[in-house]
Amino acid sequence: MDVHEHQAKDLLAGFGVPVPRGTVAFTRDQAIQVAREMGGSRWAVKAQIHSGGRGKAGGIKLCSTTEEVGKATDAMLGRTLVTKQTGPSGKVVSRVFVEQAVPIKKELYIGVVLDRGLERICVIGSSAGGMDIETSAEKDAGIVIKEVVDPAVGIQPFQARGLTFRLGLTAPEVKAAVPAILGAYRAFRDLDATLVEINPLVVTQEGKVLALDTKMSFDDNALFRHPHINDLRDPTQGDPREVEATQHDLSYIGLNGEIGCIVNGAGLAMATMDLIKHAGGEPANFLDIGGGASAERVAKAFRLVISDPHVKAILVNIFAGINRCDWVANGIVQAVQEVGLTVPLVVRLAGTNVEEGRLILKESGLPITICDELNDAAAKAVGALAAAGGTR
Ligand code: GDP
Ligand code: MN
Repeated sequence: MDVHEHQAKDLLAGFGVPVPRGTVAFTRDQAIQVAREMGGSRWAVKAQIHSGGRGKAGGIKLCSTTEEVGKATDAMLGRTLVTKQTGPSGKVVSRVFVEQAVPIKKELYIGVVLDRGLERICVIGSSAGGMDIETSAEKDAGIVIKEVVDPAVGIQPFQARGLTFRLGLTAPEVKAAVPAILGAYRAFRDLDATLVEINPLVVTQEGKVLALDTKMSFDDNALFRHPHINDLRDPTQGDPREVEATQHDLSYIGLNGEIGCIVNGAGLAMATMDLIKHAGGEPANFLDIGGGASAERVAKAFRLVISDPHVKAILVNIFAGINRCDWVANGIVQAVQEVGLTVPLVVRLAGTNVEEGRLILKESGLPITICDELNDAAAKAVGALAAAGGTR
């Protein structure tokens, strides 16, 4: 799960990371009011979307009057920002963060990540922080340095000092930057984050160190331990298909292909996706309807998959153990009768009550291709897609 910049800053501030003063605003008037109350003479108005790269997409505006703050807010609210990270459909801005702008001397990059190879949390840093870090690091991986943290003792102050020193900070700047790094690490570990990114961590003209932009992502499977983080969820920022699936308690991940998959069991769902690829197709989603899937649950899954405009064919693959093929078949028939069938549908059923299940599908009179083998089913789904004039 991702959160907004302003939320990540609140969380990190709680771990001693120094951040500029700022408040979130949902309307133009609020933004102006916030700037007035905060005082000062320069403000940054920042579009809040679950993505970086906002600066280059017009999502960050520096303002010198409160009128400008209002104008910038007006220009951002309701707009869809397309950045390098959002994908072509972009993300809609429904709130802005109004922050005291600071004069920048140096921009650093700091990231806390899990290195799966090392099985350790690492702090990575670069003196080439700011908006071009990705392209700079692609050209020269040497600009990124790394501190590996021993999980038994956690990050040590000498490591944070060493890292910032290697990033070219002076002794007083190092002293100011250490709490930011220690705090970012502790937040990562204590909140079960999968990413803490501070880009840029700036040294101001007066030698202060501030986290100017922050990004945090969290491990979904650990959110039950952090209800206050779960509450920060902003459904307007998620893949609408995934938001819908979460509401129905379906295990769903949206992908970019054209063959919608409805499968029971995560392993079988992975295998199904592999076989679709093997047959020359691309899955539109991962969907595990779970073990004891009732007809209603199957119908919900079906409605979700068919509502995706990218889906040009559907493959249902059920291996019924605890499940029963007749329930699944009833669910399919129920859903198809409700929402109609606009794309080819291939169903492979196996396991408990398979004969009854097949009979229900056949007797429904619906144009469903029924298969016994998964290989055959995947090939038929890809074939149906091609016949229907799919792009592959
Ligand atoms: P991102 O593009 O989504 O990563 O948004 P950032 O919050 O990182 O802002 C992009 C860039 O805008 C930063 O790298 C800074 O160079 C600049 N910027 C943002 N806030 C301020 C500020 O308060 N003062 C100054 N001078 N520059 C800022
Ligand atoms: Mn940034």
